[in-house]
Amino acid sequence: MIPFLDLKKINDQYKDELNEACRRVIDSGWYIQGKELASFEEQFAQYCGTKYCIGVANGLDALTLTLRAWKELDILAEGDEVIVPANTYIASILSITENDLVPVLVEPDPDTYNLSIEGIKKATTAKTKAILPVHLYGQISPMDEIMSYAHSHNLLVLEDCAQSHGASIDHKKCGNWGHAGAFSFYPGKNLGALGDAGAITTNDETLATTLKALRNYGSHKKYENLYQGVNSRLDEIQAAMLSVKLKYLDTETKQRQLVAQTYIEGIKNPLIKLPKVAEQAAHVWHLFTIEVEDRDRLVAYLTEKGIQTLVHYPIPPHMQQAYKGMFTGEYPITESIHKNILSLPLSPVISSQEIDSVISALNNYK
Ligand SMILES: *Cc1c(COP(=O)(O)O)cnc(C)c1O
Repeated sequence: MIPFLDLKKINDQYKDELNEACRRVIDSGWYIQGKELASFEEQFAQYCGTKYCIGVANGLDALTLTLRAWKELDILAEGDEVIVPANTYIASILSITENDLVPVLVEPDPDTYNLSIEGIKKATTAKTKAILPVHLYGQISPMDEIMSYAHSHNLLVLEDCAQSHGASIDHKKCGNWGHAGAFSFYPGKNLGALGDAGAITTNDETLATTLKALRNYGSHKKYENLYQGVNSRLDEIQAAMLSVKLKYLDTETKQRQLVAQTYIEGIKNPLIKLPKVAEQAAHVWHLFTIEVEDRDRLVAYLTEKGIQTLVHYPIPPHMQQAYKGMFTGEYPITESIHKNILSLPLSPVISSQEIDSVISALNNYK
């Protein structure tokens, strides 16, 4: 069996260091908002090139709390429109609706699966106040163009970096382009904790201070509350796990890029559409997705050969029961992506034999 993603194998590589870090936290007697979190926040900010990093409980909270902070700071208000790709994972959209903002779904570029500047332009109205680009599958959106558009139209930009840790354009990393970047450290993400975790990166001190209060009951000072906040903190133990794994992120990214390159060079089948890369460093390959008509038939064929695949994602947000009646537009590109997309096994620990087996199975598919 070739697993889609072998998390145990990934974490086994760092078992001694992870155990040691765990022991350090246990022995410290301090488990929430202590040295481990402060240290990880500093390292991750440095990694992304930003002034601040604010750890929170998960990626959805990173998105939701950033929009909430902008509301608290009177930069956003209920009913403001936020441009977001129609084909994103539903969390990006949940963060908008949770804040009583209005998601404006935009069809992605069918080659990169990300927002394009043309799509953003067409969707902009007098009510547009923010753009939420999602660097889907690990490829960074055209942030240089998006930021110059945002500046000229006075729009906020919140990057959804949940799948794109370390992806960059001209050496400037995701999370450092927008006014803020939201990260998830869900175990299966490129930088994964051993449980739930997330963070926001930003260069804006006021936003950072507001987020630090919001994640901790709205409290900026013990037992004094500026906001009606939430409890969304990144535990010491997860911060310690993440500090270990951050050291290996770039190596793992290179391994992912090598696997992707091998797939791109090896898979030659006219029935299969391969992903397109704008620039090598721009893609950190959280997922390697192909498109194929009659996807179920290919999935069955690969399953029989012992190759596990997954679909990211089977139902687009506008067709989810949760958003019934909310979106009236037509999204043919998004619907076709959801119908045809398939993710192949890809991880830093997949072996070259496994890669070869996947390639030859795909090349023999008729
Ligand atoms: C995983 C993910 C999230 C949510 O992150 P969690 O940590 O699971 O809450 C948000 N956006 C995208 C694009 C994701 O892939």
